[in-house]
Amino acid sequence: MSTAATTLTPEQKTWQNQLILHEFYGPLPLEPRRPPMRELISTLLSHRTTHADEELAYNRMLAEFGDWDGVLAAPVAALAHAIRTTRWPDTQAPRIQEILARIKAEQGAFTLDFLAAWPAEKGLAWLTAMPGIGLKTASLVLLFNFQKPVLPVDTHVHRVAQRVGMIGPRALVDKAHQVLLAQLPPDPVVLLNFHKHNYWHGQHICFFTQPDCARCPLKGFCTYYLEHYGQPTAEALAATPAHWEKSWGVLLH
Ligand code: SF4
Repeated sequence: MSTAATTLTPEQKTWQNQLILHEFYGPLPLEPRRPPMRELISTLLSHRTTHADEELAYNRMLAEFGDWDGVLAAPVAALAHAIRTTRWPDTQAPRIQEILARIKAEQGAFTLDFLAAWPAEKGLAWLTAMPGIGLKTASLVLLFNFQKPVLPVDTHVHRVAQRVGMIGPRALVDKAHQVLLAQLPPDPVVLLNFHKHNYWHGQHICFFTQPDCARCPLKGFCTYYLEHYGQPTAEALAATPAHWEKSWGVLLH
């Protein structure tokens, strides 16, 4: 069967996705959502943890130990207890202390501001050499805080990209980072919008267990849709909402 799902190249699908979701969710400005050190440590705490539990852990940690010096000097078991609402507190506590120790030893202070002057690749290499810091976390810090042309790919972005056919069906997350980044312009604003729009899409429409394809504006060229429902009918396409409705839920930044 020849449809947009089979005739568009992965790169063309990525471009279509970028245009359609931009219209669906609306444009976003590129601005830091929190200071760099907080972005780094909070993202580490957020692994497989809800936003509320991540915030609770972060706030408890600083309330208990005062500042980064206090967190670094804390008994590791006490730090693990303070961040107990996260998924792996016993693993994350020594990682946080090792990250803080390395930053202090190299920079003389708890700052990541030097990353602003570094090329993206150098920053990615430096951050991912830290324990527990993967490409997603490093990319979030570099994109949000330092406007570097990198693309964070989390589980939601990865799932949407795979189902639509923007990446291969067996491409792992790290491969998806490279493939999608090569398909998009090296513009931090475009990359931020692509990341957030696909993150929301995976969270609110392209669910892991049962994607809500009826509401999805990507169905016209989505490989998953074609394989499960066949070519979308004119009625199905016409019934697809053009924009995210506020009544469907809050889109967290
Ligand atoms: S059509 Fe369905 S499977 Fe494809 S991206 Fe949309 S929600 Fe996901």
